Amino acid sequence: MYKNPSIPVLLILLGLGLVISACSVQSARNPIKDTKIVDKPITWDTTRKRLSLEYMQIRHGMTNVRAPLITPSMVVVHWTAIPTLAASYNTFRPSVLEGREELQGASKLNVGVQFLVDRDGTIYRLLPETAFARHTIGLNHCAIGIENVGDGDQYKLTDAQLRANVTLIRYLHYKYPIRYVIGHMDYGRFQTHPLWKETDPNYLTMKTDPGEDFMKKLYNGLSQAGVFGISRFPDAKIN
Ligand SMILES: [Zn+2]
Repeated sequence: MYKNPSIPVLLILLGLGLVISACSVQSARNPIKDTKIVDKPITWDTTRKRLSLEYMQIRHGMTNVRAPLITPSMVVVHWTAIPTLAASYNTFRPSVLEGREELQGASKLNVGVQFLVDRDGTIYRLLPETAFARHTIGLNHCAIGIENVGDGDQYKLTDAQLRANVTLIRYLHYKYPIRYVIGHMDYGRFQTHPLWKETDPNYLTMKTDPGEDFMKKLYNGLSQAGVFGISRFPDAKIN
């Protein structure tokens, strides 16, 4: 009997196999379940909320806004230019900006970001996903920021970070109507785009992060992960 299972037994086994494989495909396709995020909050106190609201009103010119929240339609990818997780985290943690004279004049709000990816690919959530964060001139009101610990020189971004960015962007794309995934280096191209909001046309800094190589690999990874309908440039064809 064991050597020659009957046809009904084979059919039952086949059915079970189909159910099990269908379940595993289902979970593999659920970006919420597939994405491991560690909460590691930076300060989100009344001072940061007040300075964020002021930034939105003064810098972005959003005079009617009443809460420091964003409507995400873009993801901006960065590197920290700081070699360790701890030092990167400590840079973003305070509510008020210290040093960095080139940014002080525009706002006292500290720079910050919603997500920070360590060199081993661990994804940390520093702020609520739709909380306002200062990371990209002109686009903070609509952009979720991902910082990667490292730079383009001695601490090049790692393969683990690349995979983590793909996973995280797939998750964000699933949750929010994300239309653009750009590098910080690309943001100047949006100066004439309807999403651009900056009251001073001369307030612009030159950026090179996270590098052309990383952006190309990121788009390859996103395409392989089935993330479509996004683009890197305002007038580019949709991926
Ligand atoms: Zn940046």
